[in-house]
Amino acid sequence: MCGTFLFIFFVVSAPERLLTLLDTRTVPGELKWAASPSEGGWEEVSIMDEKNIPIRTYQVCNVLEPNQNNWLRTDWIPRSGAQRVYVEVKFTLRDCNSLPGVTGTCKETFNLYYHESNEDKDSYIKESSFIKVDTVAADESFTQVDVGDRIMKLNTEVRDVKVTNRKGFYLAFQDVGACIALVSVRVFYKTCPLTVRNLATFPDTVTGADTSSLVEVRGSCVNQSEEKEEPKMYCGADGEWLVPIGGCLCNPGYEEKGAACKACSVGFYKAKSTDTGCSKCPPHSHSLREGATVCDCHSGFFRADSDPFSMACTQPPSAPQQLISVVNETSVVLEWAPPRRLGGRSDTSYSLECLICQTGSQLCLPCGSDVLFAPGQTGLKTTRVVVSELRAHTHYTFIIHARNGVSQASGAGAAQSVSVTVTTNQAAPSPVSAIQASDVTRHSLLLSWQQPDRPNGVILEYEVKFYEKDQRERSYRIMRTFSRSVDVTGLNPLTVYVFHVRARTAAGYGEFSAPFEFSTNSDPFPLIGEGVNSAFLLLSISGVGILHLHNIFLILLCVPPSPPSLSLLFLLSSVAGVKIYVDPFTYEDPDQAIHEFAKEIDVSSIHIERVIGMGEFGEVCSGRLRVQGKREIYVAIKSLKAGYSDKQRRDFLSEASIMGQFDHPNIIRLEGVVTRCKPLMIITEYMENGSLDAFLRKHDGQFTVIQLVGMLRGIASGMKYLSDMSYVHRDLAARNILVNSNLVCKVSDFGLSRVLEDDPEAAYTTRIPIRWTAPEAISYRKFTTASDVWSYGIVMWEVVSYGERPYWDMNNQDVIKAIEEGYRLPAPMDCPVVLHQLMLDCWERERAERPTFSQILNMLDKLIRNPGTLRRTGGDRPTPTMLDPGVCVPEWSVCVWLQSIGLERYRDTLAAAGYTSLENLLALTHQEMDRLGIITPSHQDILIASVQQEMLSQMQHMQHTMVPV
Ligand code: AMP
Repeated sequence: MCGTFLFIFFVVSAPERLLTLLDTRTVPGELKWAASPSEGGWEEVSIMDEKNIPIRTYQVCNVLEPNQNNWLRTDWIPRSGAQRVYVEVKFTLRDCNSLPGVTGTCKETFNLYYHESNEDKDSYIKESSFIKVDTVAADESFTQVDVGDRIMKLNTEVRDVKVTNRKGFYLAFQDVGACIALVSVRVFYKTCPLTVRNLATFPDTVTGADTSSLVEVRGSCVNQSEEKEEPKMYCGADGEWLVPIGGCLCNPGYEEKGAACKACSVGFYKAKSTDTGCSKCPPHSHSLREGATVCDCHSGFFRADSDPFSMACTQPPSAPQQLISVVNETSVVLEWAPPRRLGGRSDTSYSLECLICQTGSQLCLPCGSDVLFAPGQTGLKTTRVVVSELRAHTHYTFIIHARNGVSQASGAGAAQSVSVTVTTNQAAPSPVSAIQASDVTRHSLLLSWQQPDRPNGVILEYEVKFYEKDQRERSYRIMRTFSRSVDVTGLNPLTVYVFHVRARTAAGYGEFSAPFEFSTNSDPFPLIGEGVNSAFLLLSISGVGILHLHNIFLILLCVPPSPPSLSLLFLLSSVAGVKIYVDPFTYEDPDQAIHEFAKEIDVSSIHIERVIGMGEFGEVCSGRLRVQGKREIYVAIKSLKAGYSDKQRRDFLSEASIMGQFDHPNIIRLEGVVTRCKPLMIITEYMENGSLDAFLRKHDGQFTVIQLVGMLRGIASGMKYLSDMSYVHRDLAARNILVNSNLVCKVSDFGLSRVLEDDPEAAYTTRIPIRWTAPEAISYRKFTTASDVWSYGIVMWEVVSYGERPYWDMNNQDVIKAIEEGYRLPAPMDCPVVLHQLMLDCWERERAERPTFSQILNMLDKLIRNPGTLRRTGGDRPTPTMLDPGVCVPEWSVCVWLQSIGLERYRDTLAAAGYTSLENLLALTHQEMDRLGIITPSHQDILIASVQQEMLSQMQHMQHTMVPV
């Protein structure tokens, strides 16, 4: 069933082919078949067929005589490879009823027999050797054929016979008493005709022996094709092809057209036999002959090994562009733009060649293997590389090569590169690598060492750090020397000491050497605490504690001899693990400080454009700065006016020495200084919108609260950075904040700190910015980060009031008095309550109570994240009036209570938030207070503890006064 079902679906429509073995109609002359009996039985009769062509027939009609057995046998028929033959007999038969008086003897059938035989040898009919095929009866006993004077019907019957055993066969017709005429006999077999299926040729195939047999046939691939899967089909018994399997594919360069493979035309190609057809040559390629398997690239275009043939031919990239180098001590940042022409590819990569070039000569050698490249030196996909571990003060040439997949094929080399030559700056010396001890006694030894491998400049000094091994680094001593050896005395006998040495150049200290251990000799009477050499500095660092900077200064003051050692400052700052600002006035030579912290700029790279302001020492101009290998930038240029004194020069340059130590997005950046020619200049980044106070006045009321808070956040962030570096600004005011085109605020003006320190009378001169300065700084010069926080509160007020003058037109003495009596600036118009609260916190009389810049920054970040908290304002306040701390009517219980615990400053904040009774206040949490802007931790604790205490005592009081019923 299944097979049949399959065949139904897989029959391949191709008409069967019939091959004739015998056709009596086409035999010329008489047939002369053998008949038995030779007389009175079958008789050969010639008649005319319907087209009037003579044909031979055999007839018999012995219907009146009983027991008829008339045999007629064909000639031997060679089977010619056929396995099943078809016998088509056309005959007429007389209806017995139509013959009067023949009842009983007349028949209406005849029998068909066959006999297989290898040769044509039988001249007589051996009936027993014949096998019966069938008894054949007429469908239409009365034929329409005109036989003699009668019209009779012609019957056509086909029978099939398996003939597989011999080379040929005979057929025989047995008549048993019918009136019959064999009009024609045709013998044929069937073949499945030659066909091409799936580009495979299947030959003409003789069908199988059985009616259900399938002959499996293997096809052969047509010309210019190859086998994909073995091509097979089955030849069915009916001469139909069935179930095609597998097939062939046209070879590369050929495509299927009308069951054959035809060569691809010129301009087309086919690379693989599995490709569906010929394709047009991709861009920048061609094929000049038919049958191309690949298209050749046009001249100047190439194909990489890994490129598919369908891809356009491409070119190597042009050179990288706009190579910029930025030298930072002994590292260089190289940045470039991708090539203008990528050659039609997306696999551009870069490699970097590093050469050391001798000054004044063309000789360049490859850099050593110790140079580091991040992220790498070759195969770079990015356009930025940081090259580090370079030698100090050395000329390097960097060549950036651009390559892509066809660079090699094209043989392209130096054409696709760009180069830059740079000179590295100073760098700290490399570590000392070997230390020896000699002349070892019970209390001393002579320590000596080699110069570091890479001194990177002139070594100014060596520093020796040592400690008893048992003590680890909890307690250590420091010695300094200009030579490469030092006599270490005052040691304990029979004790192992650990030594580290490091070198210092103008670029600072290098790393300490690895530890070297040496032991002193034995002493029968060890002396505990024996005299410590005055050159030693004993530092004790307890546990994890880090020395506070003030303590460090105390130690410094205690350490003889003077002058104050800058190196010690460095040492201590590195011990504490934080970067600390170095006061340039600790340098005897101001030029040394300026060159330590600021870059000297060649005056020819500055183009002054216009005057933008007037500074303390001269004009401030704007202009452009173009340093070699860097992009041109806009800068502000401050110059020192002619005829300056030494002190003015020093003060002028000190600002740059201070600024040069800072690196923060909210601190004005120093680009460099010009000190080698006149006028002296300080070059800083250009801030398009100038100073904050003037900027706000110009744009009165034009910003959203969030924008204002954003500005304040920037200033707080810059101030946090300064306070982390232990720098006290002393002149924080909106006029000293600069604003750029993106509204980014940066702290500037680092001149005042020194001026005030120098001048003991400063507090009483007009130079002190009274309105911005904390009371303790005004009265006893206690300038600290906490006094900067006070000034920050004033800046907040300036910002929110769009540049209003703090305390309006009150004179300085009145301001000092008002502050002393507890008055504070009120909230500016539309000022969010939380912001005014933060200002009041900054203006705490006790400086320890003021928030830190870190807390302020957190607070502002919270406000920016939750802008809803900024919506609540105190309403329009009449200005100018001062916030009166004393007015608290008795009915306002919360206010009275707050006054009793010294926190009446929060009365408005709490009232505005709905805390109108003490019961309400019981719900107050730390988070809620954070949200309201009550951020001082001690205030939060006092509020929570006091309200609970108050409620408890009120309840106790009620219990005592209740009268039992
Ligand atoms: P100063 O001496 O720093 O107070 O500068 C005087 C004035 O010059 C300032 O008030 C600003 O208007 C202007 N100014 C100073 N530095 C810059 C700068 N980096 N960018 C733009 N303007 C500046």
